[in-house]
Amino acid sequence: MNALEIKNLNYSYHDISGETPALHDINLTVEKGSFISIVGPSGCGKSTLLSLIAGLYPPESGTVNINGNIGYMLQHDNLFEWRSVYSNVTLGLEIHKEKNLASYAYASSLLDQYGLSDFKKSRPSQLSGGMRQRAALIRTLTLKPELLLLDEPFSALDYQTRLTVCDDIASIIRKERKTAIMITHDLAEAISVADIVYVLSKRPGHIISTVPIHFENEHESPMDRRGEPEFDDYFDFLWKELDKYE
Ligand code: ADP
Ligand code: MG
Repeated sequence: MNALEIKNLNYSYHDISGETPALHDINLTVEKGSFISIVGPSGCGKSTLLSLIAGLYPPESGTVNINGNIGYMLQHDNLFEWRSVYSNVTLGLEIHKEKNLASYAYASSLLDQYGLSDFKKSRPSQLSGGMRQRAALIRTLTLKPELLLLDEPFSALDYQTRLTVCDDIASIIRKERKTAIMITHDLAEAISVADIVYVLSKRPGHIISTVPIHFENEHESPMDRRGEPEFDDYFDFLWKELDKYE
C-alpha cells in the first residue's frame, strides 16, 4: 500500500517580478512504512515539494494523493518557553480538539518510552538540543500521523549534536513504523536514514535520480550505517549525481 502518490506535479510561484518555476514534472510513490530522503541544492524546490504534499499549496498541474494524516517536523522545534514540556507535547491535542483521556495517556506513554517523563514539568530551555527535538517529535506523534514530513529537521544543530539527534529521531520514527519523507541537503544524513534517496536537480526541481539504499547489515542504526563499507560508495555516487547537473 502507498502512503503517497505524486503524478506529473508542476508548480510555479507568481509575484510581481513574474513567474518562478519551482518544481517540474515530479513523479513519486512512497510505500507505507518506508523512510525516504530527498536531497538537492539549496533553492531547488525541496520545501515547496513538502508544502504541496502537506496541501499548503494547490498543484499547478498534476496530482498529490495521500493516505492518512500528516505530521510536520521543521528545522526549529517551535517549543513554547512559557509552557511546560508536557503542555508543549499536548498542544496539538488541544488545537485539534483531541483532549481526551486516551490521547493524553498516549502522549504520556510516548514521553515515558522515550525518556522524557522526568522532564514533563520542565521548561524547554532546561532540555538539551537533542531532548528538545525528541519533544517536538513526540508532539507530532501524539496526533498519530501516518506520514511524517521532515524539512531539514537537524540543520539548526551543531555537527556533533546533529549526528546523535538524527540517529535518535530516525530510530524513533522506525520504531513507531511511520512513513517518513525527510528533506536534507546533507548527503550523509540521507544515506544514514533512508530506504531510498531521491536527488532533485537545481530549480525547477526535477527528480534526476532514485537511489535505493541497501546495507548488507540490515539492522544497523543510522549512526552504525556511517561506518559500513557501502556508505562511502553511496556517498560518492550521490555526490557525482548532484555534480553532473550543476
Ligand atoms: P529549497 O527548500 O530547496 O531550498 P524552496 O522550495 O524553498 O527551495 O524554494 C524553491 C525556489 O522557489 C527558490 O528559488 C525560492 O526563491 C523560490 N520561492 C520560494 N518561496 C517563494 C515565494 N513565496 N514566492 C516566490 N518564490 C519563492
Ligand atoms: Mg527548504
